[in-house]
Amino acid sequence: MKTEKILLDPEELPKRWYNLVPDLRVPLPPPLNPSTRSPIGPEDLSRLFPKELIRQEVSMDRYIDIPEEVREAYMLLNRPTPLQRANHLESYLKTPARIYFKREDLSPTGSHKPNTAFAQAYYNAREGVEQLATETGAGQWGSALALASAYFGLDCKVFMVRASYDQKPYRKHVMNLFGADVTPSPSTITGYGQSVLAERPDHPGSLGIAISEAIEYTVGHTNTKYALGSVLNHVMVHQSVIGQELVQQLAQADLAPDYMIGCVGGGSNFAGFAYPMIGARLSGQAGSTEFLAVEPTLVPSMTEGEYDYDFGDTAQMTPLLKMYTLGSSFVPPPIHAGGLRYHGCAPTLSALVDAGTVRPMAVGQDECFEAGRLFARTEGIIPAPESTHAIKVAIDLALEAKRTETEKTIVFNLSGHGLLDLAGYASFLEGLPKAS
Ligand SMILES: *Cc1c(COP(=O)(O)O)cnc(C)c1O
Repeated sequence: MKTEKILLDPEELPKRWYNLVPDLRVPLPPPLNPSTRSPIGPEDLSRLFPKELIRQEVSMDRYIDIPEEVREAYMLLNRPTPLQRANHLESYLKTPARIYFKREDLSPTGSHKPNTAFAQAYYNAREGVEQLATETGAGQWGSALALASAYFGLDCKVFMVRASYDQKPYRKHVMNLFGADVTPSPSTITGYGQSVLAERPDHPGSLGIAISEAIEYTVGHTNTKYALGSVLNHVMVHQSVIGQELVQQLAQADLAPDYMIGCVGGGSNFAGFAYPMIGARLSGQAGSTEFLAVEPTLVPSMTEGEYDYDFGDTAQMTPLLKMYTLGSSFVPPPIHAGGLRYHGCAPTLSALVDAGTVRPMAVGQDECFEAGRLFARTEGIIPAPESTHAIKVAIDLALEAKRTETEKTIVFNLSGHGLLDLAGYASFLEGLPKAS
């Protein structure tokens, strides 16, 4: 049986990123200073981020040029990535639906995260920064930033959530190979880390704590800036390279999706995948696509959180962001989809959910692994545990189309592969009844 791939030529790689913010129907609520509760200004962010990224963070320009150096780096990331049809999954399901997926698993670190890591490292290097500091959960973001830092000649310091550092050492090795310095968080090298450890010496850490440590480290070191892998507007902007390629691929194959599906941790792969299409809709272009954002039932920020101002980190050092949140002190349970363990969600995505433009959904861990296993067996790709959340919903919709005998077109974002997440798959397989 054939495998259909819709490919773009290298020259069709987008020359500009897309920014959704000017197309929102209701203006995006601004970040607030926690003590005065008035909107923060660019100067409040200048200790953490380079000027150009702050400019992009608050930009009202619909398009932002991609620097030639970053476009060249995107070739290293195997961009443009294919839009592939899941022919084998379709035939296994005996569904009349057509299922397509965008292949963000093909980057050197195995996820969409380098799309923004390379842009961020480029602007920092251009402005004379010498070191980037960041946090990472399972290590996808840390490995993307480590590679991007090496590429643009920067040092890279990563605070890695302790539980992952101990249980999932492989991404730590990846980061070390790319030249990054990796410290388990909570650590003894920041005041905040020390205070957490004083209360609980065996603390397993969390993304919120690691963010606090990375910010404190940044402020305490010269020529050092901070980099964030999701949530912020400039990250969503860089990821739009995914969706702009997709728009060209859909046009080339004459496809109009009934559903577009992405998983959500902080919201960046969903944003990159769907915002160019959503923006066209908000600007009046006709279409009936439903946009579905999928999160884990155990970290249900969009489906059960409050839409309110909250801190991005546990030590409450960041500005307040208006977002769907479970509270900055929420400690997510140790699910295997480490990239989805965040208490909040991007302000732009939160605004779209609040407006009813994007429908949030939550799915359970075992049903996701089951969907991931079926995808691996039929399509030959082991998906990241995060990405299985989108796959699970795509399969459910394909089975629904079979029941109703309708030819739906379903497109989802394959945000990454799961070849460094086999421990999660192993515990899933061990929990299954034998000889299944
Ligand atoms: C980090 C990550 C996610 C979640 O982050 P978003 O910002 O919501 O995209 C999803 N999938 C993979 C493979 C990841 O590495």
